[in-house]
Parts: sequence; structure tokens; C-alpha cells
Amino acid sequence: MFLDARKADCPLNRATQFAVVGAGPAGITIARELASVGPVLLIESGGLKNCDDVNALSQGESVGWDYSLTDSRARGFGGSSSLWAGWCAVLDDHDFVRREWVPESGWPIEAAQLAPFYARAASVVNLDRADFDAHSVAGKAVDLPFDATLVTPSVWRFGTSIARFGAQFRDAFEASKSLTALVHASVADIQLSRDGTKVLELLVRTLDGREGRVAADVVVLACGGIETPRLLLNANGHHPAGIGNETGLVGRFFMEHPHEAVHALELTHADWFEHSLHQSNGIGGQQFMLALGLTTRAQQTEKILNARAHVYRTPDMPSSEPPRLGLFMEQAPNPNSALQLSDSRDAIGLRRVRLDWQLDSLDQRSYDITCRLLAEEFARCGAGHLSPGRPSGSTSRGRTFIPTNHHIGTTRMSATSTEGVVDSDCRVHGIDNLYIAGSSVFPTSSWANPTFTLIALALRLADHLGSLVTHAARERDHG
Ligand SMILES: Cc1cc2nc3c(=O)[nH]c(=O)nc-3n(C[C@H](O)[C@H](O)[C@H](O)COP(=O)(O)OP(=O)(O)OC[C@H]3O[C@@H](n4cnc5c(N)ncnc54)[C@H](O)[C@@H]3O)c2cc1C
Repeated sequence: MFLDARKADCPLNRATQFAVVGAGPAGITIARELASVGPVLLIESGGLKNCDDVNALSQGESVGWDYSLTDSRARGFGGSSSLWAGWCAVLDDHDFVRREWVPESGWPIEAAQLAPFYARAASVVNLDRADFDAHSVAGKAVDLPFDATLVTPSVWRFGTSIARFGAQFRDAFEASKSLTALVHASVADIQLSRDGTKVLELLVRTLDGREGRVAADVVVLACGGIETPRLLLNANGHHPAGIGNETGLVGRFFMEHPHEAVHALELTHADWFEHSLHQSNGIGGQQFMLALGLTTRAQQTEKILNARAHVYRTPDMPSSEPPRLGLFMEQAPNPNSALQLSDSRDAIGLRRVRLDWQLDSLDQRSYDITCRLLAEEFARCGAGHLSPGRPSGSTSRGRTFIPTNHHIGTTRMSATSTEGVVDSDCRVHGIDNLYIAGSSVFPTSSWANPTFTLIALALRLADHLGSLVTHAARERDHG
């Protein structure tokens, strides 16, 4: 069922078992799963159509590397999936592991714990299955003459069709008795119990000034990697630094996937990479694009971050010009790459975001070394010419890394409350009934686009919440 919060006859004081805030891929996935457990209220700031005055709530300041806070996301039922390009990839096993040359690396869960949820996430994004093995997806397209101890192939996969969550799941919400989507309602505050260990109520507001309170047994924030920390920082009624922020980590470690060309290489054998230039049909008709990266061993030897190269053309490139090699890079977790609150407020009274996106010396070094090793290997195999005179990245050309609309790390997952914001079950440390879904919980970013992984984590969180309810019911039954 859909309810429009702007309508005078829509009660905004409500009670529910599960309140999920934000109807993007994370929120919609969790809400659908929890509907079989109990009543779910999905609270969404936007409506069923894109709307400028709602998107204006996302405006803020960028004071570090240039960043658009509005173009990189969308509000409305479906969230930023109305804009996304559908590139799906999985994290590498070593992304989860602590790497001594990457400060603050390591997840409190292992790759194997996510694997069953990747399998389930496939159908959510219209993939036939969660097969990301380059050889089994792409077959012979992977047979390139590179040194296999240095260069490893991966694939991006694309659902058929690309999942626009608003359109894809609207009917399920219309039809369900236990799923209610309250649209045009923004959460403006989170009220905690006197001892600060439980969420009691959410304050919801509409742009035209209606207001109400939602009481819920369990609250899941799924507002995206910028709005979720923003909401926690704004909710300072109990703790002046905001909810979950006793150690000052909410909003820190903002990570992207910086992209930049490999300038030191001119491709000659573009035909080798046709499967990287376009989405191709692989084995069994699976849509994929080829990516090439340095092996785990090479990354360990060089003490650098993860990255993947792809061959691309931009619309402004003359057709006579050969395509370029570009890198999507992991960004180092950096506490100084952070979002804070500014003094200006939006139309529902929330302080706006001031984002200071920063890249550090490990990011730069990883880019430089990855470019050099790939360029040399491509040249050795006859796939291109080295162009050493050409500038290599940001140091010599000024600020050239561009962001890719991925918002990662701002409520990081950690084993202890001193190292992060949520625990390995995505529960905010110290608060019994407050959880976070989305890429803000990733402690490191990998090279892989985040949406497929955040959907897998959302499915895992839904299972966890379902099992807590089952466990509580059993305890009650046994007195
Ligand atoms: C142009 C573009 C291309 C992209 N391409 C890819 C790609 O190819 N592959 C990939 O993996 N990712 C891609 N992404 C990123 C992808 O869209 C996001 O990772 C994904 O949408 C995040 O899902 P989410 O549910 O966490 O957040 P979102 O999709 O951002 O949804 C959050 C929702 O929360 C709502 N909300 C926020 N604050 C509040 C509040 N206070 N109260 C109530 N509701 C609130 C918002 O209105 C929004 O609807 C792309 C993004 C863009 C912009």
C-alpha cells in the first residue's frame, strides 16, 4: 500500500514493527524481505515521480575534491536506482582482509559470509545467477596474452533489464498488506530512550509542514551513504555529537571509486578489448563487460590498493582516436575524507552537509603504480605503446580524478565501538534497535561498484532481523 504523507487525511502518527527509512535499493530490498516477518513502514522522502523540490533537500557544500551532492543521487521511491547504470560486481576475497599497508582495512565479516546473499541478490537485479567468474561468464574473451601472475580478469555484469527499483517493485507494494510505503515523508529526527540505548520514535515531516511521530520496534536507516550519516549527526537531542557518534566516526571515511585514464599508454590493439568497450553477450547470453586488474599477489608486493582497468571511449572523442584505458580505483579509508554538518538548513529543518572528499598519498601511489605496471604489460604484449612523455594522473595535470556516484564508508562496520559505527550485524553500536543498510557500512571500498554488495548486505540484515523475531517469539512461548 502507498500513502501520501502530504494528504490531510493521512495520519502521520503511526506505530509499526519495522520502520525502514529510505526507499532505494537497500530500503526496498529490506522492506520486501521483512514483510513476511511483520508489518513494515517504508518512509521515503520523495514520491513516485522525480521532483525538484524534494531533490533540493540533498543540496550541500563540497569543500574538498569537487563533488556534486545533487547529481550523484536521486530521491523518490526507488532512490538513486532511477539513475544507476546497472554495473554489478562483487568484492574480491582479499577486500575483506586486513592489509597492513592499508590503514583501517579489514571487515569484521569474511567473504564467505556474504556469498549466500550475493546468490540471492542476483534475482533482485535481474541477473540469472551470481556468477562473476570471468572465465565462466566470458569464455574466450578472457584469453588475452597477459602474464597471469600480474594481470587478472574480472567482469561487470548487467541484469536484463537494469533494475529500476521504483518501477520494478511498485506492484509488490500496491498488493501487499504488510508493506506500507509512506511517500513524501522525510525523517527529520530520531528520538532515543532516556538511557540512549533504544530508538523510541522517528519525527517525520513533509515539505508543506505536516508532522508526525512513528514508533517502531526496529528501525533501519537506508537513506544512502550521505543522508544516513547526515541524519545521525542531526539527531543530537540525546548526545550533542549525534547518534552513534561518541567516537566521532559518523561521516568520516567517505570513499568513492575515483576514475582516471591511464595516460602513459596509447592502445593499438583496441579490437582485443571489444568486450570491455560494450556490454557483450557471454556464455548463456549473460551480459558482461571485461575488466582487468593487478593480481592480489601484485597488489601485496607493491603495497597498493585494488583497482580495475577498462577500455572506454567518451562521447567527445573523435572516432579516429583509439579508445583509452581507464582505472576504477579503490580509495583508501581516510578519516579526513569526511562529511560534517554546515550551518545552513534544508526545508524540513535538517542541517545540510559539508563534504570534504579527500584523496591521500596511498591513493595517488596506487594509481601511479597500477598505471605503470598495466601500461608496461600492455606494451610488452603488443596491445599498446608506452607514451612516457604524457602526463600520468593528478600530480602533473592538476585534479583529474573524477567520482563515480558511489558513497561509501561513512558509518563503517567494525568489531568494536571504538573503531566504527555499526557492528557486524549492521546494528549501531550501543543502540538495541537501530540498524543501517547501504554502502555507508563498508569499511573498505574495493574496486567493485557498491550496489550489488549493499543489496546482499540488506538481505543478510533482513535474515538477521527475522531470526531475532523468531528467537524472541520462542523465548516468550517457553515463558
Ligand atoms: C548516475 C549514477 C549511476 C550509477 N551507476 C551505478 C552502477 O552502475 N553500479 C552501481 O553499483 N551503482 C551505481 N550507482 C550508485 C547506486 O545508485 C547506489 O549505490 C544505490 O542507489 C544506493 O542504494 P541505497 O538504497 O543505499 O540509497 P539510495 O538509492 O540513495 O536511496 C536512498 C533513499 O533514501 C531517501 N531518503 C534520504 N534521506 C531520507 C530521510 N531523511 N527520510 C526519508 N527518506 C530519505 C532518498 O530519498 C532515497 O530515495 C550510480 C549512481 C548514479 C547517481
